[in-house]
Amino acid sequence: MPELPEVEALVRDLRNRLDGRALARVDVAAFSVLKTFDPPVTALSGLLVEGVSRHGKFLDIDLDGLHLVTHLARGGWLRWRDELPKAPLRPGKSPIALRVALDDGSGFDLTEAGTKKRLAVYVVRDPQEVPGIERLGPDPLDDAFTVDVLGGILQAAGRAQVKGVLRSQSTIAGIGNAYSDEILHVARMSPFKPASTITGDDLQHLYDAVQTTLRDAVARSDGVVASELKKEKKSGLRVHGRAGLPCPVCGDDVAEVSFADSSLQYCPTCQTGGKPLADRRMSRLLK
Ligand SMILES: [Zn+2]
Repeated sequence: MPELPEVEALVRDLRNRLDGRALARVDVAAFSVLKTFDPPVTALSGLLVEGVSRHGKFLDIDLDGLHLVTHLARGGWLRWRDELPKAPLRPGKSPIALRVALDDGSGFDLTEAGTKKRLAVYVVRDPQEVPGIERLGPDPLDDAFTVDVLGGILQAAGRAQVKGVLRSQSTIAGIGNAYSDEILHVARMSPFKPASTITGDDLQHLYDAVQTTLRDAVARSDGVVASELKKEKKSGLRVHGRAGLPCPVCGDDVAEVSFADSSLQYCPTCQTGGKPLADRRMSRLLK
C-alpha cells in the first residue's frame, strides 16, 4: 500500500509530466472504481491541468477547477506511459482499472492487483467532497504539525495503543501500517504504549521519528519513477515486513504480532525491553 512518501513522490513526478498538458479523456475499465457520477468523467476532457497535490494518501489532479482524485488502496498502482496503446481498454481483461489520456498521447493507467478491489477514483468540484479527505487529520509534513500538535493528539487518544493512533487517517494523515512500524522503531517505542502516557522526552523522540522517517522516505523516493517506487520503499524499511531478519540497529531478530486487521513488526531489544509482545487477539480468543 503506498503511504505518504510514495504518494508524495508520485505527486512530484506527475507534476513534471502533467505541467502544461490538457486531459484528452478518461477510460474506465472497472466501473466499480469510480465512486462519483456528477460531474461525469467526460466533463474532464479538454481541461488543462492546473496542479497536482496530495491529501494524506489521496492523489489530487486539479483540472481547471474540477478534481480527479485517487486513492490507490492496498493493491492499486499508477503506471506512467509515454505513449498510450491505441487499442481501447477492454473491461475485465487486465489489471488496468482506469486510463487517463493526455493531449500529447502520453498518460497513465491506474491498476489494481489482487482480489480485494479497493482502488477508488472520484471526480469532484472540491476535494473536501471526498469522504476520506474530509475526515483526514493534520498532515505530519505540514509546518503547522508541531510537537505540541502531536502531544494533543496523543492525549486525546487516551489509552489507545500508539501504533493504532499513528496509522488512523482521521488522527494523522498519510501514515499507514509500514511507516508506523518504522517510526516506532526509530523512536525505540513499544507499538502497544498507551498514547496518553507519551509525554516529555518520549513525545519529542516520537515527533522527531515521525519527521525523520517520513522526510527521509520522501527524499529517497524523490525522482524515482513510479514503477520503481515500490522497490524503493521496501529497500528502505528497517523492521516492517522483515520478521525473522536482523534488526539493522542491534542485530536481534525482528518480531511480529497480530494487530487489528493485519500484523505489525518490531524489534524486542530496541522497543520493548527484550520482551515479546503478547498476541492479544489470540489470547482473547482462548479465554
Ligand atoms: Zn533492534
